[in-house]
Amino acid sequence: MGFEKFGRKSFASHAKVESFVEYLEKGELRGTQCKSCGKQYFPPRADCNGCLGNDMDWFKIEGIGTLVSHTRAGFAPTGFEADVPYTLAMADFNGIKVFGRLTGDIPEEEVKVGMNLQLNILTFSDGQLSYEFIKP
Ligand SMILES: [Zn+2]
Repeated sequence: MGFEKFGRKSFASHAKVESFVEYLEKGELRGTQCKSCGKQYFPPRADCNGCLGNDMDWFKIEGIGTLVSHTRAGFAPTGFEADVPYTLAMADFNGIKVFGRLTGDIPEEEVKVGMNLQLNILTFSDGQLSYEFIKP
């Protein structure tokens, strides 16, 4: 229900967050923000676990983030076998933690916690969408 076009293989669906892929198609990565208490979520959530509200708005994740943590993956789940090795990373964008892959263009020895990263939206030849972290 909306996540079918995200990732290299179909992603489990989450209710009421179908706009996520529509924003990706426009080149934007978005999370959700609770209209009642202001709590922000990524991956997007349809319900707030802060105040239990369900009136959510979308906000854009953009600008320069910093690398918080990373790990080199030498094996991959089904469907990703051709991609190894790659670097999985957690980056912080204004307090929002985003989990994803580092682009393969960054040499492993240059990958350092605290380095600046920005988002790059990917469209694969089969129409699937995803994102990665690149150097600004
Ligand atoms: Zn809330």
